[in-house]
Amino acid sequence: RSPAGLPQRTINVSQLAVLPKVQRRGIQQDVHITRTGKPIITVAGGRSSLGGHTATVFGATGFLGRYIVNKLARSGCTVVVPFREEMAKRHLKVAGDLGRVVFMEMDLRNKASIEESVRHSDIVYNLIGREYPTKNFDLDDVHVWGAQRIAEAVAKYDVDRFIHVSSYNADVNSPSEFFRTKGQGEKVVRDIFPETTLVRPSRMFGFEDRLLNTLAGVSNLFTSNHMQERFWPVHAIDVGAALETMMLDDNTASQTYELFGPRNYSMAEMADIVDKEIIKHRRHINIPKRIRQPLQRLMNKALWWPVGSDDQVEREFIDQVIDPSAKTFADLGIEPAELTSLTYQYLLPFRSSSFYDLPPATEREKREEKKYLHVID
Ligand code: NDP
Repeated sequence: RSPAGLPQRTINVSQLAVLPKVQRRGIQQDVHITRTGKPIITVAGGRSSLGGHTATVFGATGFLGRYIVNKLARSGCTVVVPFREEMAKRHLKVAGDLGRVVFMEMDLRNKASIEESVRHSDIVYNLIGREYPTKNFDLDDVHVWGAQRIAEAVAKYDVDRFIHVSSYNADVNSPSEFFRTKGQGEKVVRDIFPETTLVRPSRMFGFEDRLLNTLAGVSNLFTSNHMQERFWPVHAIDVGAALETMMLDDNTASQTYELFGPRNYSMAEMADIVDKEIIKHRRHINIPKRIRQPLQRLMNKALWWPVGSDDQVEREFIDQVIDPSAKTFADLGIEPAELTSLTYQYLLPFRSSSFYDLPPATEREKREEKKYLHVID
């Protein structure tokens, strides 16, 4: 008899085979404790899963942002999305269950708004970046000073993890202002919060990218280096998956990751692939750097929509260099996708309208079609 007085059943091992199987829902639960002692309880359950983590994603309204917000919110994490523009953030609301995605109005110049965005989180991602200077923020403001303010807030509230997205070729000695400020940003955040995980993605492609969309979307492509710059294009969804894995594995703290695709391309090779896929030819016009750079500078000042910058011209002359000491996708157990396996999917909307997948219908097929307009059963 059991201590409660109830009769105990003893089962012979040979009887186990004939016992009816009890159906149980496969509930997967886990608990782990963060660096500062917070318990993270995860329960799997589809859209209503409990992810346990509370994550703040600065720069969530951008291209890469949606892929990490989507990953976190659908696994049941609470995602804090600091935003500047009402309309820029609304697509993120549906990424997770009701109440999982929380919006906070934020401005880099408003310290209180940054602190308010990070204080309840156990992980903070900084995806904020700009390819060109804007009226109110130059590259230094966004990549160095902005990153510093976020890192200071992370350190002040002793947030468990900080993941800072920098860039490939980030280097304080680079001739490009973008790469230089990204390099300075890395240094500043590591000085303030040494456990920062640095992520250097290569040029990313995906639905909302500025790579395939530029190559396929314009009739005249202006460049200065005959499209000879080389890099390893990487799929934005793979980078999103890597950012999620970093949250789940605390061993990634204080590490630097170079995230790049499996194959190296020159811009001209990519333009060729794009032209074949969209069955159109995009004209390529080469303008010397000494003429294009001042022109871009002038246009960037005079026009109020994004027209590129002189620094983007400078970057056309810099190939991607991978830091051999940095970790890669392989260390996260992710196999990055190859560009050509996805170009069909991403470039389909750009295909020439004069191209049809099906051969033209024969006279007989046309007659048949007329005969059977709508057949049920
Ligand atoms: P996007 O340009 O698509 O998004 C940038 C994000 O940063 C947006 O959410 C934007 O907010 C925010 N942001 C920019 N300036 C400011 C500012 N002054 N104050 C507050 N927020 C600001 O970038 P991606 O998603 O393509 O890239 C993410 C990160 O990866 C960036 O840091 C980028 O530099 C880096 N990277 C990207 C590469 C690529 O190929 N795309 C290659 C290498 C690195 P808002 O919507 O309000 O403007």
